[in-house]
Amino acid sequence: MARTDHRNPTVAGLRPRSKLVHGGIRRSSFDETCEALYQTSGYVYGSAEEAEFAFANDGTRHVYSRFRNPTTAMFEDRLAEYEGAAWAYATASGMAAVHGAVMSALRAGDRVVAPRSLFISCYWIVKELCPRFGVEAVFVDGTDLAAWEEALSKPAKVVFLETPSNPGLEVVDLQAVCDLAHKAGAVVVADNAFATPVLQRPMEFGADVVIYSATKHIDGQGRCLGGVILAKDGKYGSEVIHPFLRHTGPTIAPFNAWLLLKSMETLELRVQAQSASALQVAQFLEGHPKVAQVLYPTLASHPQHDLARRQMTGGGTMLSVFLKGGKQEAFATLNGLRMVMISNNLGDSKSLITHPATTTHSKLSDEEKATARIEPGLLRLSVGLEDPQDIIEDLDRALAEA
Ligand SMILES: *Cc1c(COP(=O)(O)O)cnc(C)c1O
Repeated sequence: MARTDHRNPTVAGLRPRSKLVHGGIRRSSFDETCEALYQTSGYVYGSAEEAEFAFANDGTRHVYSRFRNPTTAMFEDRLAEYEGAAWAYATASGMAAVHGAVMSALRAGDRVVAPRSLFISCYWIVKELCPRFGVEAVFVDGTDLAAWEEALSKPAKVVFLETPSNPGLEVVDLQAVCDLAHKAGAVVVADNAFATPVLQRPMEFGADVVIYSATKHIDGQGRCLGGVILAKDGKYGSEVIHPFLRHTGPTIAPFNAWLLLKSMETLELRVQAQSASALQVAQFLEGHPKVAQVLYPTLASHPQHDLARRQMTGGGTMLSVFLKGGKQEAFATLNGLRMVMISNNLGDSKSLITHPATTTHSKLSDEEKATARIEPGLLRLSVGLEDPQDIIEDLDRALAEA
C-alpha cells in the first residue's frame, strides 16, 4: 500500500472548506508550511536530453511560465478542487478569462447567445468583438425561458451568461438554459463572479465552463487583478481552451496567483459573512422611505427569488438599490457616506458603493441603459466584512441627509 505523502497530502474526501486551505499544495524539498512563490519565468534542464524529453512529453514538467508555473498551478488546482472542475487556468484578469473561454470556442459562421444583462466588458465581447470575426451574436432577456428556447432553436456554439448579473441581479435558470444550449450544440460558459463558488456551482446545473474575475471575491481584499477559467471536462480544457491561452498569453503573474492562492483559505468564511450581512442590509433598505426598490436574489421581493433559492445557497454580497430621488439623491447619498467607500470595484472586504449610470455603465446608449435598468437612481452596493450594523447606520445617515 502506498504511504501517505505527509508533505503533500491528498484533499480527496475532505470537506470543501478544508480543501480551500490544503488543496493543490506542492511543497518543495524545503518543507515550507506556507505555499511557495515561484517567481520565475522559465526553468532549466539538467541536459539537452532532458529538455528534449520535456518538450516531447508535454505537461511532464514545467518549461515556461506562460504555459504553467508551480505557484499558479497550486491556485488553479485549489479552485478546481473546490469547484469540482477537472481543469483550470488562471488569467491576468477576469476579462482575459471571459475572452479566452468565449473566443477559444468560436469560428467564423458560429452563433453565440447571451442575455442582455451582462457586465459591460462581457457585453462588449459578445456584441462588438464576436461579430468582427464573423460570429453572429444573439441577445435574449435572460429571465425569459421562451426567448432562450427560440434563440436556441437553431444551432449555436456558445452560450455565455452571468447569474446573478452585474448589476441587474437577474437570475438565469441554469438547468433549463444548459439543457436548451446542449440540444443546440453549444457549450455553456457561466460567469460566476457575483455568486462565487461558495454560493453557486454552475457545473452542477450543466455549465461546461465557469469563469471568475478573481479580482472580486477570490482576492476580496483589493490587492490584485486575476481571473480563472474552469472546465468540467478536462479534455475540453486542455484541447480547446489551453492552446488558445498558451499561444495568446493572458497568463497571470506568479505573485498575483500566490495572493489569490492564499485568499482562497478565507474565501468561504468571507463570502458567507458578507452574504449574511448583505441580506440584513437589503432588508433594512427595503423598508426605507427613500428607496423605491431593492434587488437582492433571495429576498421575497426579487422577481426570481424561488429560482435563486434553488440554485444558490445564499443571496451573495451584492445588492442593487433604486432610490426614488434619481441622480441627485444618489450622488448626495454617496457623498454623505462615512464608512462605505465610493468605488467601482466589488466583492471586497470593505463595503463599496457605485453609481453605475455615471461610471461602470456610462458608455451604454440610453436605450441599452433602459433595458438593463441602469437608472439615474440606481446604486450598486457591495457589502463587506464590517459589522453589518455599522453599514446600516452609515446608509441610514447618508439617506437621511441626502
Ligand atoms: C468584474 C467583472 C468581470 C471582469 O473582471 P476583471 O477582473 O475586472 O477583468 C467580469 N464579469 C463580471 C460579472 C464582473 O463583475
